[in-house]
Amino acid sequence: MPNQHTPSLVSRFVGALVGTFVGDALGMPVEGWPWRKIAQHYGEVREMLPARLGAGTYTDDTVFMIALAESLIENKGRVVPQDLAWRFRQAYDRRRGFGAGMHRLMRLWDEGVPWDEAAHRLFDGGSYGNGAAMRVAPVGVLFHHDERAVYDAAAAQARVTHAHPLGQQGAALQALAVALALRSDPATFSRDEFLEDLESTLPASAETFRRALMQAGDLFDRWEDRDLIVRKLGNRSSAHRSVPTAIFAFLTFWNSFEEAVVYAISLGGDTDTLGAMTGAIAGALHGMEAIPRRWWDALENEGKGRDYVVHLGEQLYDLWQQIAT
Ligand SMILES: [Mg+2]
Repeated sequence: MPNQHTPSLVSRFVGALVGTFVGDALGMPVEGWPWRKIAQHYGEVREMLPARLGAGTYTDDTVFMIALAESLIENKGRVVPQDLAWRFRQAYDRRRGFGAGMHRLMRLWDEGVPWDEAAHRLFDGGSYGNGAAMRVAPVGVLFHHDERAVYDAAAAQARVTHAHPLGQQGAALQALAVALALRSDPATFSRDEFLEDLESTLPASAETFRRALMQAGDLFDRWEDRDLIVRKLGNRSSAHRSVPTAIFAFLTFWNSFEEAVVYAISLGGDTDTLGAMTGAIAGALHGMEAIPRRWWDALENEGKGRDYVVHLGEQLYDLWQQIAT
């Protein structure tokens, strides 16, 4: 069932960013729920449910994605750690569902601990959470023409908050998936090829993620067995137990933005981030047009809301034209 529509490049830039926002907002009301509980209560989450700040509101995933996009635009495509740290601190808002690790990090920054030292003080050897991956879509779209640049920029932006290699590698893998989706033609898309390409771009040091991707490739026919998928790939907030899962969800339903995001959230656990990461990849492949209108209409639009996120995507596209030519 080939997709007839080939979206424009700018629509894909915007789609990856809005895809993050939509997946985040759709998944947030059931964050932390086991998949069975979601199935019992809702069947599946296909509409924006009531939430802490209202239906269609976003969480930390989108807060930091916006900050990362702003920083890249302001610095002409360079990752400037001090600027990023400053923007993360400005954007940090406890009502948006940040984890305990980020709260601690903000306190360390406030106490004057330099960003590179503070990130190392979190947990034991730095955070390996998916926080650097959930926000990384702007890097994937901006450098999609250059895998090396995607990897380096994704890891560099991750280091500001995530000192553990798994946290950085997970961010790099997610950014590579967004970039590869953006370069892929929906009319000739092959999920096996996509997976092979992705595996081949990972450095030897990212063995944990390479293994997870190989495992994902063996599970496409088993997607309905959610116990199995959660056990094998994970639905946790650690990078290596969620980034491969988002890629799996995207690839299982690569032909539909809606189905991919709904499926990712149906796996339970860290549902807002699974939704955000899956939405970013699917949005990069299909563009804005594939994002269901009813979801778009429900997104918050005050201040840094949906129109602002579209504007950021367009600015990144303009910047890409300057960088890549
Ligand atoms: Mg969140």
